[in-house]
Amino acid sequence: MAAARLSLSILLVVLAVAAGQRAAAQDYDFFYLVLQWPGSYCDTKQSCCYPKSGKPAADFGIHGLWPNRDDGSYPQNCSPDNAFNPSKVSDLLSSLRAKWPTLACPSGDGLKFWGHEWEKHGTCAANVFDEHGYFQAALRLRDQLGVLAALTSNGVKPDGGYYTLSQIKGAIQDGTGFEPYVECNRDEAGNSQLYQLYFCVDAAGDSFVECPVLPSGRPCGNRIEFPAF
Ligand code: 5GP
Ligand code: 5GP
Repeated sequence: MAAARLSLSILLVVLAVAAGQRAAAQDYDFFYLVLQWPGSYCDTKQSCCYPKSGKPAADFGIHGLWPNRDDGSYPQNCSPDNAFNPSKVSDLLSSLRAKWPTLACPSGDGLKFWGHEWEKHGTCAANVFDEHGYFQAALRLRDQLGVLAALTSNGVKPDGGYYTLSQIKGAIQDGTGFEPYVECNRDEAGNSQLYQLYFCVDAAGDSFVECPVLPSGRPCGNRIEFPAF
């Protein structure tokens, strides 16, 4: 009897600890997958620098996979001890160079950008991803969308032309099944241009979902330039 009571108490303690760890470990509700259009990153006063590996393809690149809460807030820099280690993603480096290129100046090899994203955002999803899993998931999710094909097959082309917000959202919804939040920046002449797309992914980092809350990025107006790259 005493032994049964003792093992019940031990079980309760183990369950309580496990629940506490889960609550502490998953401090977010979903992810934003944020893609950037390189032509718009470059086509500002600030300009850009191509990575050391050369000019990236004219396609959407990854900015990051960001854990976020339903109330719009987000955790960041969750494990300062868990610094980015390139050797853990050595098999992904050529995909990262192609699909997650850095455009900041001075020219880099991408390690700084990826390291920043892992340390600021990735470490906050340690309940589902180790470093390799984090980058692999972002690459898979980006490929699954095929955003550029969705746009171009609906007549929205990176040709320096202007499109409405509903044309852009409609084309992406039609081609991918999901409607992104569209963030714009300004070209040198002050025109609004298609800069970043935010898609939402479930807390497991697995599947796209409707966004529980929209990000606070700069909105677009209704005349949006899609610059060439
Ligand atoms: P975040 O804005 O994600 O906190 O930070 C992005 C950081 O990565 C900034 O320090 C920015 O300079 C650097 N970075 C390097 N390459 C890129 C790039 O291609 N796009 C963006 N948005 N940031 C980049
Ligand atoms: P910005 O002020 O340029 O929009 O964002 C700067 C950085 O803050 C982003 O690169 C990202 O690291 C972080 N950030 C901005 N907005 C959000 C958001 O809504 N959710 C998350 N998780 N991070 C964000």
